Amino acid sequence: MMYDTLIIGSGPAGLTAAIYASRAGLQYAVIEREPMGTGQIAYTERVDNYPGFYGIDGFSLGEKLREHAETLGTAFLEHEVTGLKSVQNGWQILTAAGDVLESRTVICASGASPKRLEISGESEWTGRGVSYCALCDGAFFTGKRVAVIGGGNTALSDALYLAKLAEKVYLIHRRDVFRADHALIEQAAHTDNIELVLQAIPVEIQGTDSVTALIVSRNGNKHLIPADGVFVAVGSVPNTAYVREIAELDSIGYIIAPESGETSAKGLFAAGDIRTKQVRQVVTATADGANAIASVQAYIQKAAAV
Ligand code: NAP
Repeated sequence: MMYDTLIIGSGPAGLTAAIYASRAGLQYAVIEREPMGTGQIAYTERVDNYPGFYGIDGFSLGEKLREHAETLGTAFLEHEVTGLKSVQNGWQILTAAGDVLESRTVICASGASPKRLEISGESEWTGRGVSYCALCDGAFFTGKRVAVIGGGNTALSDALYLAKLAEKVYLIHRRDVFRADHALIEQAAHTDNIELVLQAIPVEIQGTDSVTALIVSRNGNKHLIPADGVFVAVGSVPNTAYVREIAELDSIGYIIAPESGETSAKGLFAAGDIRTKQVRQVVTATADGANAIASVQAYIQKAAAV
């Protein structure tokens, strides 16, 4: 079967693209690596900046988006995409299981994954005290001491969430200015069991049977932060491996694409956290999904007219 568009990823960008594709009467489907996905939003405790849904938890917001796409008849295909191949009239999508899907256009909406620190002890203790998901693993540290690393919205949100469970939260940031939203910084500053450790560069995670400490460097001197758990929240890396040889990427690996989602490859579009943009939020991801479908429609109409 030749689709009009195949959407890779079932986060807010991909699900919104599905909603708009359905309304546009396109032959389309969403490809997802794991069943019932809704992307990274599922791991956010509370979302205060998606218009109309103040205070909603990220999991519920993701479910609402997915239900909307399902109500409009979206088909979800479970595949891990490993590569794309340009063919006459469109694209072949290659999967880990060896399947080949065909579509006139492709929308890359496969988002990003947590970035690693790449410090000593990180790999060794991952899953045994080192975590990249406060919402998933926070409960294991109830009444304990944890360190959260990072200065962005994820680190601040994670610290606030963990402060409700843990006895003590050390928020470790490498600079003395946070890049997180003002409201989150204020909240953290007024939370008694959050201690800010600024201008501190993580250098090592130590443990015996489980994690016992994070070592940071401040002004060239090493300091030990006692911690039973270390939550790494230092940003994300785009999931663009399958498209690396196909579309132009920036130095970090994001697909270079304007608001229209058009990439350097014909008939290939990018939407959501995966593309170069200033603000990575649910609201911009959903907007990207809508714009990508408008671009797909224009592309298909133009191709038909030739
Ligand atoms: P981010 O904004 O890129 O912040 C990453 C943080 O990690 C920065 O403070 C950075 O420090 C620090 N960092 C990076 N590499 C490091 C290293 N090797 N060692 C120590 N620290 C390091 O990432 P994010 O917080 O995951 O947010 C990603 C996007 O999602 C943002 O656009 C954010 O606004 C959005 N988001 C929004 C919400 C919300 O609105 N509720 C929640 C979560 C995420 P520097 O500041 O020094 O560079």
